[in-house]
Amino acid sequence: MPFEIRLFPCLKDNYGVLLHDPGDGSTAAIDAPEAGPIDAALAASGWRLTDILVTHHHADHTGGIADLKNRHGCRVVAPRKEAQKIPSVDVTVREGDFVTVGSLIGRVLETPGHTLGHIAYWFKPENLVFVGDTLFSVGCGRTLEGTADQMWQSLLKLRNLPVDTQVYCGHEYTAANVHFALTIEPKNAALRARAEEVVHLCSANMPTIPTTIGSEKSTNPFLRADLHSVASAVNLEGVAPAQVFARIRSMKDRF
Ligand SMILES: [Zn+2]
Repeated sequence: MPFEIRLFPCLKDNYGVLLHDPGDGSTAAIDAPEAGPIDAALAASGWRLTDILVTHHHADHTGGIADLKNRHGCRVVAPRKEAQKIPSVDVTVREGDFVTVGSLIGRVLETPGHTLGHIAYWFKPENLVFVGDTLFSVGCGRTLEGTADQMWQSLLKLRNLPVDTQVYCGHEYTAANVHFALTIEPKNAALRARAEEVVHLCSANMPTIPTTIGSEKSTNPFLRADLHSVASAVNLEGVAPAQVFARIRSMKDRF
């Protein structure tokens, strides 16, 4: 199905995203960090907000929901396991459920770890995935509520999507993530190329998002924790990938 998409900054370093079906005019915001920039993007595009698809309960992803719902009367779709922490929810979803935005059909993937009920929305025919704070470009979310093993399994689920899937995440953290990743894999050619690209994009004040699953597989140390070379770089050769992931995550937390 044809679709249009708009990405724009919100708050300090969040992203807002609008997904639009030009066929029937439906438009979904993926998360709602704050109402102002979402209203501005709607006004600039002439689109009408019909849906908000929420990835997780954190305030920097939900702060704009109540206001937007009041004024636009849009439907709010949220993860079932966190619905009580999210305002104005109409529909709750879990693993395997389908969510429609006009004629666009997204599938819910549960990706616990950053929060326990975190979900992603995968629009397979459109090659899009909205991952919230589970996966970032060259990084991943902090394991705030879940275990390292849960987070690793969630990242594997995203890593298994087709390599050309366009990935929209919740924050612009790429430059800092690249600095850290280079300490783990200084010789990774794909990572070094991505580092150069990110410098150019950031100096031009351009987003580094979307990324792709293929790009992340070759550059993101958190998706590469089951590689011998990465385990060895953090002195955990022969250790289970989830533990290698946990070590890299705690190194990044202290970086
Ligand atoms: Zn979060």
